[in-house]
Amino acid sequence: MLELVAACQRELLSAPADEPVRPGAAESGLPPIGPPLPENGVGAAKAVTELSDRVLRTAIRSAGPRFFHFVIGGVTPAALAADMITTTADQNVGTWTSSPIGSRTEDIALRWLRELFGLPGEWSGVLTSGATMANFVGLASARRWWGLRHGADVDRDGLAGLPGVPVLASGYLHSSAVKSLGMLGIGRSSVRFHCDDTGRVDLAGMRAELAGLDGAPAIISASAGEVNTGAFDPISELADLAEEFGAWLHVDGAFGLFAGVSERTRHLVAGVGRADSVGSDGHKWLNVPYDCGFAFVRHPELLGPIFANAAAYLPGVDSEQPNYGNLGPESSRRARSFAVWASLAAYGRAGYRRMIEGHLDLAQRLAERVRAEPDLELLADVPLNIVCFRYHPNGVPEAELDALNTALAEAVLADGRVYFGTTRYRGVVAFRPAIVNWRTGPADIDLIVEVVLELAQRLRQVGP
Ligand SMILES: *Cc1c(COP(=O)(O)O)cnc(C)c1O
Repeated sequence: MLELVAACQRELLSAPADEPVRPGAAESGLPPIGPPLPENGVGAAKAVTELSDRVLRTAIRSAGPRFFHFVIGGVTPAALAADMITTTADQNVGTWTSSPIGSRTEDIALRWLRELFGLPGEWSGVLTSGATMANFVGLASARRWWGLRHGADVDRDGLAGLPGVPVLASGYLHSSAVKSLGMLGIGRSSVRFHCDDTGRVDLAGMRAELAGLDGAPAIISASAGEVNTGAFDPISELADLAEEFGAWLHVDGAFGLFAGVSERTRHLVAGVGRADSVGSDGHKWLNVPYDCGFAFVRHPELLGPIFANAAAYLPGVDSEQPNYGNLGPESSRRARSFAVWASLAAYGRAGYRRMIEGHLDLAQRLAERVRAEPDLELLADVPLNIVCFRYHPNGVPEAELDALNTALAEAVLADGRVYFGTTRYRGVVAFRPAIVNWRTGPADIDLIVEVVLELAQRLRQVGP
């Protein structure tokens, strides 16, 4: 089995630099309704060979250097190797007794992450499956705090009978924070947005709303790095507001928290150490494999009552050793810390700084290329690693641009040499390639412009 896996890995990892992101073979290689469950198995060798063949033929190369869709990181060599050990040792880091090494490594990994981002050492933390669950942990802590302010233990008794929870945010708020509010019973519609048409926070509006609450507790959910342009909420100003009105400040820094690793961008996250909770992602800019995120909470006493998994055969919340199943949403959990630890140990702070600064340079390079092309329009500043632009040739009326850019994005995905989709920014359809893969270099960036212009020309020759 190990030989089969190694062969598959060798093929995936030794692909030439210009390997298309989207392989020639269509879709999954599987019919929508697959064959029925076999009564008798074909054996491990045959099953694994079939899977490996299918992956090699059809899998989108999302871990490669030319994948710019969403915000999807690659995997460093150290993280890849560590993750294989994780799977092979198959630790359950829900309890200390089932995995002392997993629990202790998670301790260290979380401490290193706090140091990497300059967060206070006393904060509590937990690895999660991603930033969605990291937001969930932060907002669950906020919900518990909010309930206690109302004299209620919402984790024991629920939210019934209590007033609505006011959640204040700019237009940068990520969909996963809204999803988390839904999962927490606070409600997706609880968010009160204060922003202009780019999403930028309206501080005066937010202040007025907080003042109108007459001392009732509220949650401010801030974004360090929003997904269309990489823009940041002014964390310090929001921390000032939170302090003045006694609100909880949660910061979603899924990828933007990494701005703190470079002096060039550290100002963007200034004040994040004044937050009450912070969530971020490992599988994006840290370049560890799926799935991995992490949450930090200033008030360690909150997590136990929220996430305790209490049963006679399980350890208690306040046992001496960490039982991470009592500190986050998952009870049984894989040793995600192995890949985090190995990658941080392998490359250190300097290695990550080099990678991130390389990506900052690449984002500016792409912005320059876009500015230099008369048929391309840069739609926003580029503070970090996302470049928001569209195709906008002379003479094409505004009313036709959305359809043109949508068709162009479909052509880019079908072409597969580079890979990214569209968003809507200030009401218009736009591209927003995000640079987070450690292997991405200048040639990969230049190809974005080349492919867009080439496909656009082809599209316009064919006609509308
Ligand atoms: C990706 C992202 C999330 C969600 O993270 P998952 O890892 O997909 O759970 C949350 N917030 C922001 C800003 C993101 O970019």
